[in-house]
Amino acid sequence: MSGISPFPLSKQPPLILVADDDKTIRVLLRKAMEQEGYRVVEVNDGKQCLDAYETIKPDIVLLDAVMPVMDGFTCCKQLLQIARNNLMSALATFDTDSVLGNTVISKIWERTPILMITCLDDEESVDRAFEAGATDYVTKPIHWPVLRQRLRRLLQQAQVYKQLEAANQALQHLANVDGLTELPNRRRFDDYLNTQWINLAQEGCPLSLILCDIDYFKFYNDKYGHPAGDVCLQKVGAILSQKAQKHQDLVARYGGEEFAVIMPYTHASGAVHVAAAMQAAVRDLQIVHDGSAVSQYVTLSMGLATVVPTWESSPLDLIVRADKALYQAKAGGRDRFVSSIGYGA
Ligand SMILES: [Mg+2]
Repeated sequence: MSGISPFPLSKQPPLILVADDDKTIRVLLRKAMEQEGYRVVEVNDGKQCLDAYETIKPDIVLLDAVMPVMDGFTCCKQLLQIARNNLMSALATFDTDSVLGNTVISKIWERTPILMITCLDDEESVDRAFEAGATDYVTKPIHWPVLRQRLRRLLQQAQVYKQLEAANQALQHLANVDGLTELPNRRRFDDYLNTQWINLAQEGCPLSLILCDIDYFKFYNDKYGHPAGDVCLQKVGAILSQKAQKHQDLVARYGGEEFAVIMPYTHASGAVHVAAAMQAAVRDLQIVHDGSAVSQYVTLSMGLATVVPTWESSPLDLIVRADKALYQAKAGGRDRFVSSIGYGA
């Protein structure tokens, strides 16, 4: 840890919020902190500390235990409550099922370290500080080298936490996204379908699924080579994604040349409308395909299925239905879609 700078690489120096009712101490703290290269904002009491915390979003809070208006222990508890409230509102506002939602929540849940400064060097006050949620404490009179080291260590820890969060988010992205098309991958498809199944079974609303396959794609690869095949997959994936209509719709790469569209709250007629638009859009790309027996351009075969999910059925039933419909679309001559309406839809 000692080799890690407490200064983030691309950001301004760390911002320290100092709350102490003793002006002399504040001046000394400011001087010491600024010597370390940190930025400092001073406040007089716990109430002002809460207000400043929301506005300036400090990297660390130095909190005196005994202050008028609101003491450090109460302030510390309320700072944690702010973090909790932020988390709750994030959970209420964002779609926790999306990768973006997870990212937002993990950012909001970042914990700002709180260092309590107290002249109350008795055991009870130390316990109270930790019970209130303080990360660490120092005592007055301030032992400056100790304060410097503790601050440095807390800032380093916060930095490491942020780096781990960034790595975690990058991994989460990699685990859920198809590298070639940048669309959600099969794993994400499965997760999303399962979650939506449960939601819609509770609500009694329909769920539609489209499975689609690029016609004669093997011949496309054989004729134009795999790099061209990859470009074709990227173009088709992008246009399908563009044509998805509702924000809950998820377009995923399902397999090699197969894509899937999950459409919650969508009746069969809505799914037909989307499928027709997607098929037309792919045709309009006019990607020349001499290996195709049905068109001079790249085309899609699609299988549609719609059900109202129930606890007795499973997402696999919907996939099987869509897959059968896709098979019929291919058997019927490709470049078309077939729709299968399930129970209750
Ligand atoms: Mg005081």
